[in-house]
Amino acid sequence: MLYNQVQDLKGTIRVYCRVRPFLQGQTNGQSTVDYIGENGNIMILNPLKQGKDARKVFSFNKVFGPTVSQGVSYSMELEQIYVDTQPLIRSVLDGFNVCIFAYGQTGSGKTYTMSGPDLTTEQTWGVNYRALRDLFQISKERADVVKYEVGVQMIEIYNEQLNGLNVPDASWVPVASTQDVLDLMRTGQKNRAVGATALNERSSRSHSILTIHVYGKELVSGSILKGCLHLVDLAGSERVDKSEAVGDRLKEAQHINKSLSALGDVISALAQKSAHIPYRNSKLTQVLQDSLGGQAKTLMFVHISPEVNSIGETVSALKFAERVA
Ligand code: ADP
Ligand code: MG
Repeated sequence: MLYNQVQDLKGTIRVYCRVRPFLQGQTNGQSTVDYIGENGNIMILNPLKQGKDARKVFSFNKVFGPTVSQGVSYSMELEQIYVDTQPLIRSVLDGFNVCIFAYGQTGSGKTYTMSGPDLTTEQTWGVNYRALRDLFQISKERADVVKYEVGVQMIEIYNEQLNGLNVPDASWVPVASTQDVLDLMRTGQKNRAVGATALNERSSRSHSILTIHVYGKELVSGSILKGCLHLVDLAGSERVDKSEAVGDRLKEAQHINKSLSALGDVISALAQKSAHIPYRNSKLTQVLQDSLGGQAKTLMFVHISPEVNSIGETVSALKFAERVA
């Protein structure tokens, strides 16, 4: 492999940590986040431990504190979620495959980062819609040079089974605007055929993957560009108490554990440039195989909740994320 390519592969896996603010109505209690430093360091304070064991530092490519916004379009403010994600989105139109994951316990802000709190308010849109808006806008800007076609697919992996959300057979749907995609998302949610509460419950135990497929043809040379963007809202990473979970709940928990650790194994094997990458160990890593490794780019957002009663899950999420970084 050429020296330059080796250099390019460096840094193809990025890990960002995002801290959720205390929620409205919650007493602004003690936070387990002691300190967010420059250069991607975060210091966690475990109030249940004494002395030097109480504080632990974790390191990532970046840490976003609780006041960081979703990324208001074209503002000059730098500390925003989308500003740091945007270059990856652009590279999809250049023919790269990109995976963006949201990891963390239920309630830590995964869906907030990926989708936002609601679809109607553009200001709080998550990575998904911002990415689509950019993809459509850049493809328009390049219309004299490249003709692009964009298609989306929405799937859910639940208990190691793959379900299509937008259409029964999980096929591609061509789209021409962000509005097309918003309409599809609504259809997808309806197709889940469960109520809102059940939907939340279910979504915390399944992985949902929005895939945007880009196909470009250079008008002069006729050469073809193919890029793919996977936006993955993962199942909640919390450990289920084995003594309490029985039946379906236990089965779900086992499937989630299995697939999240398989994902961790794949990303850390890639980060270490290991000769064997264990893609076959879960449905999730099988589905994403072509977009993990090689020239593909990966970004993981690890989310944490600041509350003291989340300390166990916070530390295990940060350990998981540090292993893949
Ligand atoms: P998850 O998908 O990990 O279960 P959610 O994204 O649903 O968690 O977030 C849980 C709650 O916290 C929601 O009410 C959400 O609006 C809120 N929330 C999460 N992250 C933020 C944030 N960065 N700023 C404001 N509210 C947030
Ligand atoms: Mg969620």
